Parts: sequence; C-alpha cells; structure tokens
Amino acid sequence: MSYLECNGLKRIFPGKFTLDLSFEMGEDELLCIIGPSGSGKSTLLSLLCGVDSPDFGKIILNGRDITQEPIQKRRIGMVFQDFSLFPTMDVSQNICYGMRNIAKDERENRTAELLDLVGLSGFEKRSVSNLSGGEAQRIALARAIAAQPQILLLDEPLSALDAPLRKRLRTVIRQIHEQTRIPMIYVTHDREEAFAISDRVMIINKGKVEAIGRPQDVYNNPPNLFSARFTGEGSCIPMSLLTEEDSEKLAFIRPEDIKINKTNPSENYIILKDATVVSAEYITSGFFVRLSYKGSELCCYASSQPESETVDLAVKRDRVLCF
Ligand code: ADP
Ligand code: MG
Repeated sequence: MSYLECNGLKRIFPGKFTLDLSFEMGEDELLCIIGPSGSGKSTLLSLLCGVDSPDFGKIILNGRDITQEPIQKRRIGMVFQDFSLFPTMDVSQNICYGMRNIAKDERENRTAELLDLVGLSGFEKRSVSNLSGGEAQRIALARAIAAQPQILLLDEPLSALDAPLRKRLRTVIRQIHEQTRIPMIYVTHDREEAFAISDRVMIINKGKVEAIGRPQDVYNNPPNLFSARFTGEGSCIPMSLLTEEDSEKLAFIRPEDIKINKTNPSENYIILKDATVVSAEYITSGFFVRLSYKGSELCCYASSQPESETVDLAVKRDRVLCF
C-alpha cells in the first residue's frame, strides 16, 4: 500500500493557476519533484503540509485522510531555501524546538545525535547568526528531523548555496534519508540534483504531472516531449528525416545516441549524410557539437573536435523516441 496518496488534488487560483494532480509514494522513498518555475511545486507542498487547503481531492498519509487536518496535527516536517532558523535561539535551542514534549536530558542526547547526523557535532551552543549557509541548512534539517515527522518536505533547500556546496549537501541529504528512513519529498528545479539523489522523480508542468518514475526510466523513456526536454539535452527533429514513411511525428534523440562519422555502422544505426557542423563546445569529457541537417538542429557528443565542416551522423535506431 502506498504511504502518501494524493487523489484528484486540486487548487484553483482563479484566472491565474490551477494545480490538478494525483500521485502516490512509498514509505521508503525519496521522491524528487522537478518542474519549471511557476509549475506548482511549492503550491503542492503547501497543500501537503497544511498551510493551504485544496479545493478538491484528498490527501491520505499513512492510511489517514489528512486533507482537513490542521497543520499542527499533521507531523509533517518542512525545510525551506531560506533556512528559517529562529535567530534569537542558539543551535541546540533551535533543534530542541521540535522536541518540546520530550524530557530535558533525552533532548540533549537527541540533539547531539542529530548534530552528528548532519555532520556538525559540537555546534550546540553556536549562535545561529554566525553559521555559514551550508551549516544553517544542516541545522534546519536537524531541527525538522527532531520532531520525528511522518514525512519531510524540502522546498529547493539548496538553491541559496553555491554549486560545490550544493553537491556536497545533496549527498548528505540522501545519506540522512538512508539512515533515518524518513520519507522525503524534495523539490528542486535542478534535474541533475533530482537524478542524483531520488528514488523516483515526478515532473510537473502547469500544475499537472507529466511523468513519474525512476530517474533512468524517465530519462530513457520519457512519456512525452515535455519530459524528454526537461530531463536533458536532445534533438527534436521531424520523424520524416529518419524514415522513408510518411510521418507527422517528432523524433527526439539524446546526444549520446548520435555518433559522428562512425566507422562501419551496423543496421542498428540510421545514417544522416552531410550534416553541417555549427559549433563544437569543449566540455571536459570531450565536445558538445551542434549540427544542422536539412533545416533541423541536432546535437551530439564527440571525443574530439570535428575536422571537417560536414559530417555523417549515425543515429541509434532503437533509441529514437517518437512523439
Ligand atoms: P513553483 O514553486 O513551481 O515555482 P508555485 O507553486 O509557487 O510554483 O506557483 C504556481 C503558480 O501559482 C504561480 O503562477 C503563482 O503565481 C501562483 N500562485 C501561488 N500562490 C498563489 C496565491 N496564493 N494566489 C494566487 N496565485 C498563486
Ligand atoms: Mg517554489
């Protein structure tokens, strides 16, 4: 049975935006939600945690209908981009905030455990205002976990941090999930981050679910063109350029499925002759090459810079996605 179920969940901001979706998640999952800015990610989290109520639909958490339950009763943890720590309290007071019903010495032990979990042992008496962004977010995580939430919702928790720190902390969050087994919904606009840490990703656009599945499945077999484009680079060209048959459809091809001047390509490849090289950008693993073929743009990877202006392309036949 699923742990969290959203059935026909609808939130209407008249004339502006409608969220309308259903999905389920399991008890042991870290589910990442990705989608463009304004797609409804934060709106969905507001409904789940109870700061906003849906106009229609149901939220079932751990077998209980919580749709109308007040926010204090839901035991749902939240971590936001801006950390939202209490500035007048020190680190341990911030963490203990979620443990008000627990005896004092137990609270102290638990605080030490939580600080260890987030890699900040000994930070108990630090002032919150002297923490770096990364440290503040670790404390915000510890505080959210202290309350033993039934589920933890994270809304772009790393967006305010610089790239190397984001990479490090996303690993920490995944490890925390594995150690605590707290189910997590992690919202991000960064697909690489989502792919790196999630069990499954859910892509939303304009308030609707476009795709949900394991990162590798959503990447390799996206159910629609939006999901194909949103999950990574690719070329979108008329299908008629690849087949003799009459087709109005579009083909989507990942850059890694196109090879330049492949020697002895087998029949598993479709050959496109005389594509023009438009640009070749150095990326550390090689080059990212943009090409033009019969009026369409294509892109692929190459281990070295193409030496001629025109090249032949070999497209992996079974990797062509058709929409
Ligand atoms: P995301 O988090 O994916 O960037 P949001 O869920 O914050 O997107 O917003 C989705 C859409 O809903 C936006 O167009 C936003 O302007 C609109 N919206 C959010 N909250 C409200 C509100 N309280 N009243 C009216 N419109 C809102
Ligand atoms: Mg948002």
